[in-house]
Amino acid sequence: MTTKTNQTNQYVNFINGEWVSAVNEEKIVNYNPANNEEVVGEVANSSEEDLNKAVRSAKTAAKGWKGRSGAERGQYLYKVADIMESRLEEIAECMTREMGKTYPEAKGETARGVAILRYYAGEGMRAVGDVIPSTDSDALMFTTRVPLGVVGVITPWNFPVAIPIWKSAPALIYGNSVVLKPATEGAVTCAKVIECFAEAGLPKGVVNMVTGPGSVIGQAIAEHPDIHGITFTGSNQVGKQIGHEALARGAKYQLEMGGKNPVIVTEDADLDLAVDATISGGLKSTGQKCTATSRVILLDGIYDKFKERLLEKVKEISVGNGMRDGSWMGPCVSERQLENVLYYIQKGEEEGGQLLAGGKQLKDDGREKGYFVEPTVFENVNSEMTIAQEEIFGPVLALMKVDSLEEALDLANDVEYGLSASIFTTNIQQMLSFIKDMDAGLVRINAESAGVELQAPFGGMKQSSSHSREQGQAAKEFFTSIKTVFVK
Ligand code: NAP
Repeated sequence: MTTKTNQTNQYVNFINGEWVSAVNEEKIVNYNPANNEEVVGEVANSSEEDLNKAVRSAKTAAKGWKGRSGAERGQYLYKVADIMESRLEEIAECMTREMGKTYPEAKGETARGVAILRYYAGEGMRAVGDVIPSTDSDALMFTTRVPLGVVGVITPWNFPVAIPIWKSAPALIYGNSVVLKPATEGAVTCAKVIECFAEAGLPKGVVNMVTGPGSVIGQAIAEHPDIHGITFTGSNQVGKQIGHEALARGAKYQLEMGGKNPVIVTEDADLDLAVDATISGGLKSTGQKCTATSRVILLDGIYDKFKERLLEKVKEISVGNGMRDGSWMGPCVSERQLENVLYYIQKGEEEGGQLLAGGKQLKDDGREKGYFVEPTVFENVNSEMTIAQEEIFGPVLALMKVDSLEEALDLANDVEYGLSASIFTTNIQQMLSFIKDMDAGLVRINAESAGVELQAPFGGMKQSSSHSREQGQAAKEFFTSIKTVFVK
């Protein structure tokens, strides 16, 4: 197998164990969102023909891979984890330069990727079926789980390491082969992850990566008859389209999509904790997390104190390139994303929201060539307003005032999404009401909306997800099919 540890960040596709140029030899160049003149690297601008080659190689490899023991597959994943760990700083640095997440956060994400690989490596040694008593006393009945075959993995740019791994590692450990199409805006960073798989020497064709536009490569994955499972994370618009296509041809699919995540703060809450967690949950990664806090629903009695404390802290936030300048918040990932955020800020003002902090693009102090925006806080926001309903995917918090927990919960549930939600309270009854009545896949008590642990099920309700779950043991449900065996 040819491997390529690449200093220039010039990547091509990885197909059948080889680094190969796209058929048309075209490239996509990625720039640093903190400085749009700095080239970060390049990837192949592939066509459907390249995708078809990758699927053929994955299909051929699937049989042999499925035939190996889980323990053996696990050994490969341990090896990938070790290689990745040894390159942690390089990968994290690339992530910061490519999509603007601060360096400490990027290091945290890369370390998470290593931990996920090790978690699923261990899964190769765990049970994958049940013995079920038969009514026939002479018979043995049990279930076993088998791989789907070739799995198509389509990922977003906001976690260019963790999401490709948390989909690919379970796919592989349960015996599937993988064709990965990373988001274009994080594709150089993701190619470094694939380099780790290449260096670990997995059998040819078991892992493949094809880069290129979602409308070409992603679409081709959704439609390909030899891809039997599609796991997607990204926007609702694209996710729904993929779901339709997968359903039409009988492929299994899993969609993790947007969020409009609320935080409720009651009168008895620990104020400092609530403020710090709201800032961290809402503004870290420039608000570009599906689980980011977006709506802050405050009981009347704590509203003024919370607002005052929040604004003091928001004003202290430093916005910069996120690399070595110690800045707490980086840029938006792209000009398009910055424009999107500015559009929502304008919309918020037009519809009667009052700006308490931020609201503008930042273009001074070396930030002229980047896509920086101020951390922004609105008040006077009600549920009819666009900024209370649509996912902004930027550093914008909307404060909303209510008179009771019941009203807070009604407001929190009054959106089409249901991914993550937090409450800050010291009252056990209020905690229990929140757990019972909040419509979200992740409900968090006295913790920010944006935390996830790799061993726990992850996913949303309502339009945030196709209702399957990722991570931990839940991943087994998607990446395997159950066979019921009857032996007499
Ligand atoms: P996106 O635009 O939907 O893109 C996601 C992936 O789909 C990318 O690889 C993209 O490729 C590809 N794609 C685009 N058009 C496609 C098409 N027509 N057919 C098939 N694939 C296509 O989302 P994003 O902007 O990368 O990510 C932000 C969104 O992801 C937000 O809505 C966020 O909430 C969501 N998200 C959800 C979770 C979760 O777990 N629930 C986690 C993280 C992010 P290109 O990059 O080449 O366009």
